[in-house]
Amino acid sequence: MNSQTVHQLGPGNVIGLNVRKRTKVRVVSPHGHQVVDTWAFLASSSTEYLSMAHNRTAHYRTRFSVGDVLVSNQFTPLLRFDADTTDGFHDSLHAACSVGSYAFFGEAQHYPNCEDNLRKTLRDHDIDFHITPPPWNLFEKSIVDEEGGLHDRATATKSGDYVELSAERDLLLIFSACRSTIGDISNGEPAGAEIWLEEG
Ligand SMILES: [Zn+2]
Repeated sequence: MNSQTVHQLGPGNVIGLNVRKRTKVRVVSPHGHQVVDTWAFLASSSTEYLSMAHNRTAHYRTRFSVGDVLVSNQFTPLLRFDADTTDGFHDSLHAACSVGSYAFFGEAQHYPNCEDNLRKTLRDHDIDFHITPPPWNLFEKSIVDEEGGLHDRATATKSGDYVELSAERDLLLIFSACRSTIGDISNGEPAGAEIWLEEG
């Protein structure tokens, strides 16, 4: 990337970014210990968003990879997956952590959760959206076995690994640096992320 804007995202922090079509977005794990819940909303709509279920249907995969164009809940192309320096695990199956999920798993919660982060960011952007789409969980390693069991693994992300995306439409992108340690998804304590933007 040439001239970028870099946004720091501490553990538990969230950021909402309005991006124009063709903007390049790099999501970086500077320390190798961070899962980033990622949402995209079509800027011109309050009902169309990046949907993991529709992408599993579109690509016939539970994990997406470089070259895939990720679609909305109406199969509109939203994001092109341009580069990935990780081992390729970015979970599409888990719901965002929330007040409900922490209570369900019996975990005390002393920090912001990703669902509340999403809700706050949508309110800040005056988007009237009342559900929490299951996010694309960048850097989160989950495995589905032959019996259908879903297993968490510690992320294998290394310091400086990144995913690069480009916008196929004008979008609101939301990134939440997940604080959850259930399943050791961040391979230890979450350590933050960076979001790099470059206008196309
Ligand atoms: Zn979370």
